[in-house]
Amino acid sequence: MEHSGNGAAAKRARVLARRAARLAQENEALRKALADAEESNQAKSRFLSSMSHDIRTPMNAIMGMTAIAQSHIDEKSRVQDCLDKIRTASVHLMSLVNDVLDMSRIDSGRMIINEERFSLADLVHDLAVIVRPQAVQKKQQFHFEIGQILEECLVGDPLRLRQILVNIIGNAVKYTQEGGSIRVRFSQRPGDNGLVWLDFSCEDNGIGMSEEFLKRIFIPFERVHSTAVNKIEGTGLGMAIVKNLVDSMYGDIRVESQEGRGSRFTVSLPLPPAAREPVVLPKEGIVLVAESRDDRAQLIEDCLGGSGLTPVRLETGLEAVTYLTEARYEERMPCAMLLGQELEDMPVLDVAAHVRQLAGRDFPILLVSEEDWAPMEYRATRAGVSAFVPCPLFGSRLLETLSRLTCAPNEMDRGAGSRDGDYSGRRVLLVEDNELNLEIASELLSMTGVEVVTAENGQEAVERFAAGPENYYDIIFMDIQMPVMDGYEAARRIRSLDRADAGTVWIVAMTANAFVEDMRLSREAGMNEHVSKPVDLERLEDILRRRLN
Ligand code: ADP
Repeated sequence: MEHSGNGAAAKRARVLARRAARLAQENEALRKALADAEESNQAKSRFLSSMSHDIRTPMNAIMGMTAIAQSHIDEKSRVQDCLDKIRTASVHLMSLVNDVLDMSRIDSGRMIINEERFSLADLVHDLAVIVRPQAVQKKQQFHFEIGQILEECLVGDPLRLRQILVNIIGNAVKYTQEGGSIRVRFSQRPGDNGLVWLDFSCEDNGIGMSEEFLKRIFIPFERVHSTAVNKIEGTGLGMAIVKNLVDSMYGDIRVESQEGRGSRFTVSLPLPPAAREPVVLPKEGIVLVAESRDDRAQLIEDCLGGSGLTPVRLETGLEAVTYLTEARYEERMPCAMLLGQELEDMPVLDVAAHVRQLAGRDFPILLVSEEDWAPMEYRATRAGVSAFVPCPLFGSRLLETLSRLTCAPNEMDRGAGSRDGDYSGRRVLLVEDNELNLEIASELLSMTGVEVVTAENGQEAVERFAAGPENYYDIIFMDIQMPVMDGYEAARRIRSLDRADAGTVWIVAMTANAFVEDMRLSREAGMNEHVSKPVDLERLEDILRRRLN
């Protein structure tokens, strides 16, 4: 009896002890959950207070400058100065709003990384176009280097990738003094399971960061507190977004930096290669490579490797002219000529002009140009250049351009005349419910010369389109969120109308939601393009140029 009584007491004691332990554990878990919730609440209020402070700064500039402009309305230069400042502040405000939206997407796990085929060449050239002018403005040396490239076509999210890279390079430009230098490098190495590692690095010799700050660089709103940094516009959200995007793509990001000496950001991302689209080229033939520098000529020749075309190197303009004179005489013309950046004896555009005269109007002359060629485009086209191939040079881009020109000669001749576009006689339907937005978009579009017809909601848009004769409208600019009928529904209805232009009219979504899913939804509704608000003139002109020329 006694024995079993002792046994029962001991058992009860063990049960009680276990229960006490479990309660203590639960208590601990509750305490931790409470601490986490408090920390997350504090983080949220820190976030909100930083955000309202950061929004107030540009808002203050916009409101203040508007008031100043109103009270000096007759002083043209004063008003112009106010408008310039309002523009700068609004661009800043816009990027802040975009960053905050991205942070909220990340926070709630709604950041979607798209998977689509993209070309590394396009990505690198987009970057050069976006960031080079900023560096040139600060008189900085800007170098793009391309190391070993295994696959030029990859699968990933090009928009988000561009966001990562523009953020990092943009910071390098921002936090490097005038005259400094920025070196950007891309290369690839093989990974497991057929993946390719895309390695990107950006090195600057700017103001750098302390070791202490590097530990906090990826925390939202963190910025170095120094007079130099305070003077530079920024929100401290860019790096937090970059880190999250890189993590979502299963990649790595590293930062090394030394105060006063500069910084290096390295990003590595594993990406699957995409199947290459076949390019149609002449089966065999000679391509002339005119460039006096050996390394550059070698690079061009490497890009032709495997194409079946044979490069013939010419080092001077005179050699080029002699070669073509003889070739014409002997009736063995090459397929095309690739003009480099430098020839010892003549400016390259003079060589282009001679070659054009000798070889006739359809002979493809491609200018491989390191510099931003937009300023020289007119002169080069006049001299006889058929197309430009931008540097850094990618084989796929070079071969695609060659293929286009050898199959459909002299595309630039056709494009050049209508480049700046006179759109009188062309008509667009602008669908927008907000009066102010309607006025702005209508004014911007009218500035290009197109006739603008308006509709206030999707229903009205469908009716207007259906009532017009076929091909009456060239483009429909369609807001998305509207009363009565939204833009997606209106696009679907227009596409399903029984008339020849229902499937061909361009429908461009105009929406405040600049997210990948919105782009997907508008594509699914049958729209061709997506423009995010606030709409800017350059983007509209780009669309008109592509559609109407
Ligand atoms: P910001 O909008 O302030 O540029 P980021 O999140 O992009 O915000 O960067 C956070 C901070 O990291 C910057 O404010 C700056 O202090 C520091 N930083 C980022 N990149 C560099 C760089 N290349 N050189 C020096 N400091 C940098």
